[in-house]
Amino acid sequence: MPVASRFQPFGTTVFSEMTQLAVKHQAVNLSQGFPDFDGPAFVRDAAIEAIRAGHNQYARMFGIPPLNDAIAARWNRLTGQNVDPNTQIQVTAGCTQAIPSVCLGLLNPGDEVIVFEPYYDSYRPCLAMADAVPRFVPLRWPDYSFDRDEVANSITDRTRAILINTPHNPTGKVYTRDELEFLADVCIRHDLLAITDEVYENLVFDGEHIRMATLPGMADRTITLSSLGKSFSLTGWKIGWVIASPDVIQGVRAAHQFLTFAVATPLQHGAVAALTAPETYYEEFVSQYRGKRDFLCEALEAIGFSVARPAGTYFILADHTPFGFDDDVAFCRHLVEEIGVAAIPPSAFYEHKEHGRSLVRFAFCKTDETLQHAVERLSALRPA
Ligand code: GLN
Repeated sequence: MPVASRFQPFGTTVFSEMTQLAVKHQAVNLSQGFPDFDGPAFVRDAAIEAIRAGHNQYARMFGIPPLNDAIAARWNRLTGQNVDPNTQIQVTAGCTQAIPSVCLGLLNPGDEVIVFEPYYDSYRPCLAMADAVPRFVPLRWPDYSFDRDEVANSITDRTRAILINTPHNPTGKVYTRDELEFLADVCIRHDLLAITDEVYENLVFDGEHIRMATLPGMADRTITLSSLGKSFSLTGWKIGWVIASPDVIQGVRAAHQFLTFAVATPLQHGAVAALTAPETYYEEFVSQYRGKRDFLCEALEAIGFSVARPAGTYFILADHTPFGFDDDVAFCRHLVEEIGVAAIPPSAFYEHKEHGRSLVRFAFCKTDETLQHAVERLSALRPA
């Protein structure tokens, strides 16, 4: 077996697997979360312009100066903080590459990290790369709340960090202020880092996106990860970033410089155009997505699913039990092969796979026509 033992438990990522099946069966693809429409022309044009202007060599290791400036300026405007663009920001190849940079740069072998389950699929292998140990705390259907005692009981003298994803993929949960205050208190009392993946920060429909780094006492112990892909419908650009205290960023940079050194230069110039856009861009963006969420939630309920309406992200988790399948994998196989719609079997996001068995994840980052087409096909499902 040529695959190194540290990766053997993880197989092929479910996103590639399901998109391949969607292509094979010509299914409407509501599995992997990427838009089937293009990002804004003003951002694409800025990248094209940068290529023409000769911005084609290695970028500065931690990000081109105007991009670090733009990330810091928006962050500081939204939070009232005074993050320094040169010492507190690292630009990464998407948030997916920020995660191993954080894990490898800041965790020692045997360090424990609290991870809420379900979790985004790459967290687990990235912790494994760093020889760090996850301690799982479940988020429970249908509101995805967690038991505070379970968090408290998971802390040991090896615990180094809590990993939080808000808004949360795949559940659509947006952590409340009360929940984050509780977790902040745990971090402060036990001297832990909070690693917060906030890539869906601009996709909140109900409630408010609270940035962990803004809670009292948390600015220096929070590592905020975000990216361009979701907010600007440019997932293929792979531009992400890390915001943290100068000490913590040094750890992230220690790993980042040897993982990829620098990120695609012209696309960073495109990202500057994106991040200097007026806030009205985000208002229009979220309002379009709210319409898509409402349409798909209502349609899925009419077809017979029970739906936990997402407060954020572009994903919906639904319960497929009424259709009589053994588990999520069998249901998703039937869906892609017989119904012509691809979705994600959520057991991929669980350590305790049984908790994902009755669920299915649909992505709604698709044109209204695509969603309509998917719903027409899903209407062929019959209760068992
Ligand atoms: N974040 C996307 C999703 O959850 C997929 C990212 C990827 O394909 N690696 O669907």
